[in-house]
Amino acid sequence: MQVIVIGAGLGGLCLAQGLRRRGVGVAVYESDDSLTSRQQGYRIHIDEHGDRALAESLPERLHRLFRATAGLPRTSTPVFDHRLGRLAVLEPSDGGVHLAVDRLTLRRILLSGLSDVVRFGKRFTHYRVGAGDGVTAYFADGTTATGDVLVAADGVNSPVRRQYLPHARVVDTGLRQLYGKVPLTARTRELFLDDMFAVFTPIICPDGGFVGVAPVEFPESVTQAAARLAPEAVLDATQDYMTCAFGARRELLPPDDELRTMTGAELRALTLTAIEGWHPRVRAIIEHWDPSTVFALVLRTSVPIEPWPTTNVTLLGDAIHAMSPAGGIGANTALRDASTLATALAEAADGRPLVPALAEYEAAMTAYGFAAVRTSAANGHRLLGQDPLPAA
Ligand SMILES: Cc1cc2nc3c(=O)[nH]c(=O)nc-3n(C[C@H](O)[C@H](O)[C@H](O)COP(=O)(O)OP(=O)(O)OC[C@H]3O[C@@H](n4cnc5c(N)ncnc54)[C@H](O)[C@@H]3O)c2cc1C
Repeated sequence: MQVIVIGAGLGGLCLAQGLRRRGVGVAVYESDDSLTSRQQGYRIHIDEHGDRALAESLPERLHRLFRATAGLPRTSTPVFDHRLGRLAVLEPSDGGVHLAVDRLTLRRILLSGLSDVVRFGKRFTHYRVGAGDGVTAYFADGTTATGDVLVAADGVNSPVRRQYLPHARVVDTGLRQLYGKVPLTARTRELFLDDMFAVFTPIICPDGGFVGVAPVEFPESVTQAAARLAPEAVLDATQDYMTCAFGARRELLPPDDELRTMTGAELRALTLTAIEGWHPRVRAIIEHWDPSTVFALVLRTSVPIEPWPTTNVTLLGDAIHAMSPAGGIGANTALRDASTLATALAEAADGRPLVPALAEYEAAMTAYGFAAVRTSAANGHRLLGQDPLPAA
């Protein structure tokens, strides 16, 4: 059994770890030249699904390293209005896992031990199903790779999905978000109220626009943790920070082409104009955005589709169920897919017929994945003014 994975994001790397742990052959092809080629966001909230998937997929010492680099934010979440009046305090219903991790640190941990498996600078263009059971992936550099199964782990713009399920739509939520970091020092910590060190604190203006803040506080130096627990993991020394985002409906912001070309300093100035009249503490937080970290994102969502006939091409994560960040569960769902799919593929490698094993994975994945898309869209509509999810 040889599995071809397109995309070395969180889901693709977790799948590769899970397959390797179960002794299944895997090769991952990633279009970026390295993990740091593009800005992709900073803090990721990991819940019990994400943590369990990582525990099931990573070698034990890498999972211990992941836990050692994960911050423990406060679990009760305040919701503020733009004048910092407390609208609500949300208590978690589950008492489950709530970890705040740095995306690049997690990706580096997921890449550890996979240098012979992951190939960077390989842009997938299309695939062809062979006369036998195999499937061949084609890359922009003219090379190909053939395996028994092709997995789309290539994110929201997935070229695999566009070819395989051309009727599956990804639509604009109507929201734009500008992301940046405030490095946490003794001085900048004072900008944040104690209860803003929660999983995610929304600050919402009734006239439109919201600011969200969320901490990443490393329990110990990540390089020390790696040296202690898994010396093969190459982690960047990185300091605590608060990730801060400003979001609004697209009508309140410049056109997307303009947003994409604006510098971090220009995006910060734009945000400060948009939040004129908000509480001075919120303005001070945005004033402390490190401009080199600020970038703009168009927020999109998948539209759930009906089941399709299973073949030896399958999908995971944002490639099939990209969702509004209002639920904070996109990455957790991608990791859960990866672990579930690794189990199905290992069973097939052990002799179970492949298509029924993949059909069982796809039935489970689409049930919880599309439910997460719907929940995230409903939260985004209620709290942030996102467009309602269109009918399938
Ligand atoms: C700013 C931000 C904050 C977020 N916060 C959270 C959070 O707190 N909690 C949470 O659960 N989720 C969060 N999410 C969502 C989460 O990041 C995604 O759901 C998750 O990354 C999906 O993982 P994935 O592996 O499916 O896709 P990705 O991580 O997007 O990986 C896809 C990979 O495929 C590669 N690729 C694309 N095209 C090709 C090609 N043609 N050939 C080869 N490779 C290709 C890409 O370069 C990329 O590396 C957040 C998202 C954003 C943008």
